[in-house]
Amino acid sequence: ALSLVGVHKWYGDFHALRNVTLHVKAGERVVICGPSGSGKSTLIRCVNGLEQHQAGEILVAGQALSDDPLALRAIRARVGMVFQDFNLFPHLTVLQNCTLAPVRVRGLSEQHAREIAYTMLKRVRIADQADKFPARLSGGQQQRAAIARALCMDPALMLFDEPTSALDAEMVKEVLDIMKALARGGMTMVCVTHEMAFAREVADRVVFMDKGQIVEIADGETFFTDPRHPRTRAFLDKIP
Ligand code: ATP
Ligand code: MG
Repeated sequence: ALSLVGVHKWYGDFHALRNVTLHVKAGERVVICGPSGSGKSTLIRCVNGLEQHQAGEILVAGQALSDDPLALRAIRARVGMVFQDFNLFPHLTVLQNCTLAPVRVRGLSEQHAREIAYTMLKRVRIADQADKFPARLSGGQQQRAAIARALCMDPALMLFDEPTSALDAEMVKEVLDIMKALARGGMTMVCVTHEMAFAREVADRVVFMDKGQIVEIADGETFFTDPRHPRTRAFLDKIP
């Protein structure tokens, strides 16, 4: 579903991604962790074209990311993105947030888009909030609305960048529960998260990044019980 091969990214002189190679199969759940500044968000942002990489190749559902705006648009339409700070459109209701891109980008009728939106809002258990504006929702509800909005595009791949780190503790669980349900449903997911219990439970593979590089990739169990790289061990030792 997703391949990165020898990807490099610079911000000016700063080398933010160094020779990153990662293959994610359809239906696979991958968690990315690592210290602050290690390039996790940069990697995610390159995959959905929010940032451009300068070397190497990124393939989404078999299509190479290029700077051709049409190709980029087509790929972005297949990649669901959930950010730390929700990024809902504040001037649109939850329902309108969910129908906008399906109508404009996928070309669905309003009616069809609304049907899909309600299905997804039910799935994240906020169908009763459909006509509210985002500011009226709790953080956990806003993040679930953002997940529903992404699902309305029928994504081939869902990217999450620290989806729970702006949430109060009691709301973290409701969002993680939705993500676990998505994972059980076979969604291809790449999640940057500090929720190590979630990673251990859900991840087929865990990727550890440091200083722009992938230092270690292991299956969930091995990653937590028998990490090979000293930097991975040092990172895990600091987690309570
Ligand atoms: P965090 O856990 O704090 O979110 P991260 O692993 O997501 O960290 P990135 O946001 O990918 O890290 O940043 C990686 C490095 O690239 C950092 O040193 C950061 O300062 C730098 N960086 C990120 N965005 C830019 C930018 N637009 N311009 C210049 N440097 C940037
Ligand atoms: Mg980040």
